[in-house]
Amino acid sequence: MAEGLEFALRYPFSDSAKAALSGMDLTERIVDLAAERLLKALKGDKSTKMLLHDSDRKEEIASFAAARMILGQMRNGYMTNMFAVNESKRVRDCLDRDDERTVDAVAAQFGISTTSEGKKLTIDLPTYLKFSTRNPHYRLINRRLVRGRVEINYEEKKRLIEEAVKKHMESIPLIKDPPDIIKAAGARLIAELPKTESRVLGNIKPGDHPPCVMKLLDEMKKHTNLPHQARLYLATYFLAIGMNEDELTKMFSMLPDFSEKITRYQVGHIKKKEYNVASCATVMTYGLCCAVCRIGSPLNWHTLDDFRKNAIKERGA
Ligand code: SF4
Repeated sequence: MAEGLEFALRYPFSDSAKAALSGMDLTERIVDLAAERLLKALKGDKSTKMLLHDSDRKEEIASFAAARMILGQMRNGYMTNMFAVNESKRVRDCLDRDDERTVDAVAAQFGISTTSEGKKLTIDLPTYLKFSTRNPHYRLINRRLVRGRVEINYEEKKRLIEEAVKKHMESIPLIKDPPDIIKAAGARLIAELPKTESRVLGNIKPGDHPPCVMKLLDEMKKHTNLPHQARLYLATYFLAIGMNEDELTKMFSMLPDFSEKITRYQVGHIKKKEYNVASCATVMTYGLCCAVCRIGSPLNWHTLDDFRKNAIKERGA
């Protein structure tokens, strides 16, 4: 049943959630729950609570809105991205457990509507482009079009919803004059944030690396999540130019879904397997090339003199 408090609890951005909160006031208890929610996001903890009483459920739903108020007041990109990633992954877990009717109700919140075409589904092109990820798998060239609509499967539909949730969480409106309890919660959370950006990223100067790499590093500095291909590309590139596994792991710590254990394992695996750095042609197929360097391989950037590097930068991304 795609309605009611249980639905609102799992999907606190939904119209059902807004209806459930109608007439409720912001209390210290709700703000405390919101801060707890944000701290869980920092730890990548997407567990959900078992709540028996409707009053507890409503407070938990309200904690989502309060968390957005805290973020709107903090204006901290790292915290917002951590929250967006954690909430979208939590929602994905819920979608995986829920039935198709409920998944459709969540999809409808974002204007995502699919039509059955035999065993496949189709979705209109603008919505597909709006919510598909940067993974090459989702590029239109790898997709079948049916009467102008894009063919997807049920898993991909849930992935589009996950991305829609993430985008929604990332777009937090600025709260200019929040209640004092929201300000106080934001100040407490600031103390929990990593103090400085990765030393490795801080040491990189403009022009040290090719434009595609610099662009990805910029995104990482803003704590934007990077797709798998981008991470693999960065790892092979930096290993190839002599960065060690520790430094590389520290560099990836800027990503909002960073897990030291998983990153160390993956970096170690890439090093052990001695994966080659992708050529420019391959980087282009990943959708990560952003300039016309004509150097064949990003590694050749280091053979260019400053004059050629500047000419490439001036030609622009
Ligand atoms: S041409 Fe090669 S080095 Fe330059 S931005 Fe594209 S992929 Fe990177």
